[in-house]
Amino acid sequence: MLTFCEWVRRQTSGTGAALILTLGCVNTALAAATPDQTAAALAQSALTNSGALEILTSLTTEVGPRLAGTAAEQRAAAWARARFETAGFDKVWSEPFTLTNGWARGLEQASITSPSPQPLVVTALGGSVATPPPGLEAEVALFKTYAELLAMPTNSLTGKIVVVTQPMVRAQDGGGYGTLNAMRTAGPGEAARRGAAAYLLRSLGTDRHRVAHTGGTHYAPDAPRIPAAALSVPDAEQLERLVALGKPVRIRLLLTPRDLGPVTSQNVIAEIQGREHPEKIVLLGAHLDSWDLGTGAIDDGAGVAIVMAATKMIRALPAPPRCTIRVVLFGAEEPGVIGGNAYAAAHQAELSHYVIAAEPDFGQGPVYRFQTGVTNPEVPSLQRIRAVLAPLGVLPGDNASHGESDVGPLAKRQVPAVTLAMDGTDYFDLHHTADDTLDKVLPGRINQSTACYVAFTYLAAELGDDYRQPAAVPAR
Ligand SMILES: [Zn+2]
Repeated sequence: MLTFCEWVRRQTSGTGAALILTLGCVNTALAAATPDQTAAALAQSALTNSGALEILTSLTTEVGPRLAGTAAEQRAAAWARARFETAGFDKVWSEPFTLTNGWARGLEQASITSPSPQPLVVTALGGSVATPPPGLEAEVALFKTYAELLAMPTNSLTGKIVVVTQPMVRAQDGGGYGTLNAMRTAGPGEAARRGAAAYLLRSLGTDRHRVAHTGGTHYAPDAPRIPAAALSVPDAEQLERLVALGKPVRIRLLLTPRDLGPVTSQNVIAEIQGREHPEKIVLLGAHLDSWDLGTGAIDDGAGVAIVMAATKMIRALPAPPRCTIRVVLFGAEEPGVIGGNAYAAAHQAELSHYVIAAEPDFGQGPVYRFQTGVTNPEVPSLQRIRAVLAPLGVLPGDNASHGESDVGPLAKRQVPAVTLAMDGTDYFDLHHTADDTLDKVLPGRINQSTACYVAFTYLAAELGDDYRQPAAVPAR
């Protein structure tokens, strides 16, 4: 078995760091490298080849798309368990749960029937009901902003196909998505309350390609469930131009998705047991399910690959960190964080032992900011993590992290969380589209993200600090 010093030396051979670390090891005789040095060496090694791209290639090629609650998602779960077992994790298991409404995409066709017939590119929103079998045709009521639709009175749009074309703003932190999310998730219910026969929105995306962006929607309990789909950005703009000419515009829409009723999904869990405090847990999440149009490479295959690669590197160390590292690959995130909520409910009794939780669910990176969601963000252990992340290009962030995606339900239950914020400038060019495929992922970007995750995870699990403690009162 390697000592820490030997291991660190191997990881950094040929670099200036190697000399310093070697001298450090010699000077301290048998002493191990400091946790900070080990974390830095892990990161350095990940920057060159983290293994994440190989994992992502395997997932997206051998499993492909992984719609929640389907046989494909179960194949992904079996793939993940086998990978963890091969990597020598101490415990690997699955926790099944029920997804109340499984959903399968069907045909999706749309066209303008008058005044100038032409096809439109659409994709059904996840959870959408079908149109009547021959499809439905109706006049368009177009709104350039979601607020304009919400300003319409009840039953004022009877029989219309409502189209909302508000564009999404491109932003590094993905802020444009958050502000428009309700246009997709609640839009069909709002249109139905006003009497609409169907709902179309301009895709929540920042690309200009003729691909539509799917995503989950949630019907209002007090309104009819109407067919709902997203238009590609160029098609939404085409409709705006036609409507502006002043003649009534009619659309024909055919969607044939199916509600599969209750189906089974699962969270896949793997652990590296802590050498001193096995009961204290650093939790890393990512979601294994994806939408079905692409192969879920950036959402969230990249996150799966990052956490699997980072923890595999830690598993290969001569000794595990002091606290346990638990990886949870969540099922059924896309239909509404079903796996994340199932996990938090099932593990409620142990949550007080969790050190901290994090989840990459924002593409391939790079990570550019370290946000915390802890009682005292100034504690020395977090400063040490920031110091190891800084040379990787990561800025200190605020203390407003609520945990990404599936770890959100843990953060709501007072589990400390961090967000290793990824640059999302181009994330919504691909998100939830047929273009979310492996070829978009660049080794340099996913390796940097994995480097950040391995450094953070190793240090958090080695230091095992209590981020729930009340902030110390500064001495006067
Ligand atoms: Zn995601």
